[in-house]
Amino acid sequence: KIKDVEVSSLSPMMQHYVKTKNENKDCILFYRLGDFYEMFFEDAEAVSKELELTLTGKDCGLKERAPMCGVPFHAADTYINRLVERGYKVAICEQVEDPKTAKGMVKREVVRVVTPGTNLNTQALDETKNNYIMAIVYLSNRYGIAIADVTTGDFMVTEVEKSRTLLDEIYKFSPAEIICNESFYMSGVDLEELKNRLHICMNPLEGWYFDDELCVRTIKEHFHVSALEGLGLKDFACATIAAGALLTYLLETQKTPLDHLRAIMPYATERYMIIDSSTRRNLELTEALREKVKRGSLLWVLDKTKTAMGARMLRSFIEQPLIDEHAINDRLDAIEEINKREMDREEIREYLNPIYDLERLVGKISYQSANPRDLIAFKSSISMLPYIKGLIKEFKSEEMQSIYENMDDLQDLFELLNASIIEEPPLAMKEGGIIKDGYHEQVDNFRQAKTKGKTWLAELEASEREKTGIRTLKIKYNKVFGYYLEVTNSFKDMVPDYYTRKQTLTNAERYITPRLKELEDMILGAEDKLYALEYEIFSGIRNKIFQEVERVQRTAKAIARLDSYLSLALVASRNNYVRPKINTRGIIDIKNGRHPVVEQMIPNDMFIPNDTYLDNAKNRVSVITGPNMAGKSTYMRQTALIVLMAQIGSFVPAEKANIGIADRIFTRVGASDDLASGQSTFMVEMTEVANILRNATSKSLLILDEIGRGTSTFDGLSIAWAVIEYISNTKVLGAKTLFATHYHELTELEGKLSGVNNYCIAVKERGDDIVFLRKIVKGGADKSYGIQVAKLAGVPDVVIERAKELVEELSDADITATVKDIALERKKGKTKAKSQVHLDEVDLEQISLFDTVKDGDVLEELKNIDVSNLTPIDALNTIYKLQNKL
Ligand code: ADP
Repeated sequence: KIKDVEVSSLSPMMQHYVKTKNENKDCILFYRLGDFYEMFFEDAEAVSKELELTLTGKDCGLKERAPMCGVPFHAADTYINRLVERGYKVAICEQVEDPKTAKGMVKREVVRVVTPGTNLNTQALDETKNNYIMAIVYLSNRYGIAIADVTTGDFMVTEVEKSRTLLDEIYKFSPAEIICNESFYMSGVDLEELKNRLHICMNPLEGWYFDDELCVRTIKEHFHVSALEGLGLKDFACATIAAGALLTYLLETQKTPLDHLRAIMPYATERYMIIDSSTRRNLELTEALREKVKRGSLLWVLDKTKTAMGARMLRSFIEQPLIDEHAINDRLDAIEEINKREMDREEIREYLNPIYDLERLVGKISYQSANPRDLIAFKSSISMLPYIKGLIKEFKSEEMQSIYENMDDLQDLFELLNASIIEEPPLAMKEGGIIKDGYHEQVDNFRQAKTKGKTWLAELEASEREKTGIRTLKIKYNKVFGYYLEVTNSFKDMVPDYYTRKQTLTNAERYITPRLKELEDMILGAEDKLYALEYEIFSGIRNKIFQEVERVQRTAKAIARLDSYLSLALVASRNNYVRPKINTRGIIDIKNGRHPVVEQMIPNDMFIPNDTYLDNAKNRVSVITGPNMAGKSTYMRQTALIVLMAQIGSFVPAEKANIGIADRIFTRVGASDDLASGQSTFMVEMTEVANILRNATSKSLLILDEIGRGTSTFDGLSIAWAVIEYISNTKVLGAKTLFATHYHELTELEGKLSGVNNYCIAVKERGDDIVFLRKIVKGGADKSYGIQVAKLAGVPDVVIERAKELVEELSDADITATVKDIALERKKGKTKAKSQVHLDEVDLEQISLFDTVKDGDVLEELKNIDVSNLTPIDALNTIYKLQNKL
């Protein structure tokens, strides 16, 4: 181990290694040795295990050889990506001088540190997702947050107060890496949960990164401004520190100026709908719950974008729905207008097809890693812009106008590239074949020199003979003098002034002329020079494009927005969505709504649409009953998704919809996926309920599925009951809620609590079986049909029959016991006290819960007994049962 090693006895190179490693302690050090990157000591041991490489050893001056493993330099990217994906940081130590010319030991330096949040290797990244790095500082009870994507140049900051809101932001961006100050660890955020859920690489940085002055200076220098106000950071003191620390970290790891991070965008979290992590997962916004893949998610349905930029933006639309009425309507206007011009829509989509990821390209250009092919892809991308602009010019909606105005057709860059770079250039940048003929005179000359050198010399020879009249004049070549004109002595007198003598032989003189020198220069080393020159010109062109980075970035964002709207529009028209009306009165009125994802999953229009009506008055809480599998959770999620889609600015799967803007959507549904976190299902459930009750507002939409299911029936029922009381009470919360339950007793709340209504999902009995009608209707379900559902699921007949028997016995016993208890308590006069409930809005006689057995029922049952088929024992049992019911 390095720390135990006596450094001074190491060989000089290993001393340098140890020194470099100590400067990059938290990284795996890739140490360049010839054609390999080598790792030593602990790094070698860790990496050989992680990447299954052979562990060898190297003499290092000590008795024992140093553990070593290595990867060939040309394949290093793959290994680096694999390490980074697993959360490691990799420092790359290169030879920074040519070993051939080095005096003594070759100089080596760390040229870049690759971390999960700063990986620039776009091949290792999903192009439809941003790869974010987030800096969080906790200072005077606030969290400052800075988020950047170094591949695209996006850079945002915000501030929040509550740790809950912070978590929401983290889940929203799901960064690949978080850096933070030490006090963040003490701020009470549940770090374990974070790490378990997101598998992020999270590291605190040393204190100096967060120094006020340094941060302000770094930001000012980076953005070339004299005051932070100009960047909109005036009210973001805490976020400024985060942004400064993040910049410093990026500069340190990337070791380049990061010029493509051109702007910083401060935003307020209140500008967007708040969606917590479990709701994001439960509503399957960007990935399906079970498989964690895009298929089956809302994104999967809505994403028909053509470009990577569009895909990323649409994802961010879904991740952050709006809450501003105007902003939502602006998007809806755009989509409506696009669909009125269907032909244009399709034509524009075709033009978007070949458009390359301009944002990441600008990143590559900034890092000087863009190759000639990248520039050609860039050119063919921007060649589409004039056509796109031409089409959207006619659009009138504000968003489309703004897209038009922000989209630059970049024709100057197109012309530059079109004139200069060969259509199908090689990948390599230093082997020529990049620059077009006719673009640069010197390039043309070099090229010609390569092929036409002989002809030129012959031509020169002929013309010199003619000019001078020296018939025997010859152009010759030798290694020492290069090319020369040779004149035999007999013609010596005819040599003109512009010949310079180089050498005298016994029978001849050798000369050069400026023109011959020029040809010589061109012919000799033409190739090397050509390659160098082509590279130089290429770099110049790349820099010219880089000068225009702001225009390119603005255009890229405009394309992304356009692509997202076109996608939403296309999906809307293909799937028969309608434009929702948006209101701020809190009314949610959906006619014949459908679940956007489920309807895609089931064959040919089999999805049964349903209405939803919720408001802030009489229809705040819908208690939804119905057997398992009836479609309760589909219905509830459908409502949440329709509201969310409307706030994204998308059309919605319904016949008609009027959507009151929700500030937050909360869901509490099945807990199976939380088991990994080590808490009991019930504990998880209650933690989420607690979060909802504490953070919901009267403008929130709550989806609660089977609250209380994780504990005993009576506990569960009581909790569910109390939760509904709390939510429906406008003095306490009064949030719009869909509440599915299998506790039929909860239907008692209708009429007792204001704003609470019963709904159920209808089923039809057909003999012993049930048929799911999937239709939501007013009123409570009267049976749970659990056994019928079990039968549908294929539980063996014997078990079904036995269950039926048990149900009868148990429910009889249950009712018997309850009724007996109540009767007893009534007698003792205790009932009133026990059943009184503290919320004054309700008068709950809890007894009514179980007060379902009436004498009438007994008579009815008596009438229905088929006496002729009763055994004496059965008869006795029946009498006993009936008596107990009275
Ligand atoms: P519950 O929550 O009542 O147990 P689910 O909502 O999970 O029931 O629905 C069960 C299945 O029924 C779903 O997987 C879905 O395929 C189907 N389903 C639900 N609602 C509908 C509907 N409106 N139209 C057609 N199929 C539906």
